[in-house]
Amino acid sequence: VAPAGERTAPLPLSCYTFPAHRDRAAAFLREAAAIIRYYERLFGPYPYEKLAVVEIPLFPGGYGTTSFVMLIDESFAERRLDREFLAHEIAHQWWGNSVFPQGLGAAWLSEAFANYSAWIYGAAAGGNPRVLTRRVARAAAVFFKEAAAEGEEAILETDVYRPVGARDAVLYEKGAVVLHMLRREMGDAAFFRLLREFADRHRHGKAAIADFQRLAGEAAGRDLDWFFAQWLGRTGGMALTYSFRNAPEGNRVRLRVSQPAPAYRADVGVLVELEGSAGEVREHRIRLRTGQDEVDLPVAGRVRSVVLDPDGDLLMKPPRWLDEGA
Ligand SMILES: [Zn+2]
Repeated sequence: VAPAGERTAPLPLSCYTFPAHRDRAAAFLREAAAIIRYYERLFGPYPYEKLAVVEIPLFPGGYGTTSFVMLIDESFAERRLDREFLAHEIAHQWWGNSVFPQGLGAAWLSEAFANYSAWIYGAAAGGNPRVLTRRVARAAAVFFKEAAAEGEEAILETDVYRPVGARDAVLYEKGAVVLHMLRREMGDAAFFRLLREFADRHRHGKAAIADFQRLAGEAAGRDLDWFFAQWLGRTGGMALTYSFRNAPEGNRVRLRVSQPAPAYRADVGVLVELEGSAGEVREHRIRLRTGQDEVDLPVAGRVRSVVLDPDGDLLMKPPRWLDEGA
């Protein structure tokens, strides 16, 4: 990888495969170089002097240790390179190796960060932001299903030496969705400034979730402790029930959203579809704060349907609609 940004020397990349997969090495090297260029723009210089991509015959499947990543032989046998898998393992050079996580919940700082890095790389490489929203929605579905089947604990309670319930879904899937929600809460500029600052400040050092939380508040310029408390300190995710009623004058609709206590605090996109053949659709944004939120939205006709969080940005079960006879 050619010098870029603050890295002044070329970065040597190498790929070690079994003889049967020698012809796959070029594709892995090309993709690895693209991944590193992308991460360097976001997270700062690659933290080591080289990167080797190594095919291995056995468990653990994928592992990103200092300056090299090991990938199971199956991934070299597949015709299509598993971009997310490779991008996840390379992301560990920043998250897990250079910034070494500490304390309870520490795996969130490596696994969720590596996963979300791989998701955004996948969306950028695919040139399609829908890749990211689909991935977030899939992660939320996997998390709710596995947590219901196997039990779970809060991200802040997870201990690498004591796996509980659906721990992988909690760290990899919910954990990465939490980062996505933090990005939506802070805005792209502040969020990526935060990741860059976190990588810089703890480069070749240790960091705990509290360090990241403090930096997040600084990058956002406001308190975000509530965000970390509700998303890392609690199990589960949001479960909304909603209803709506058209005003007699037909120029506004009253939307009611309720959730079990303690209520999650979130800003939620709302898609409002009007009656009539045109089926006009408007997007609004509402704030949920109390568990029983009511808001009047201006509309230009009778409302036929309302969709909460149409982009699927939140860790939320499918919302339940209560028919008010609207
Ligand atoms: Zn990992």
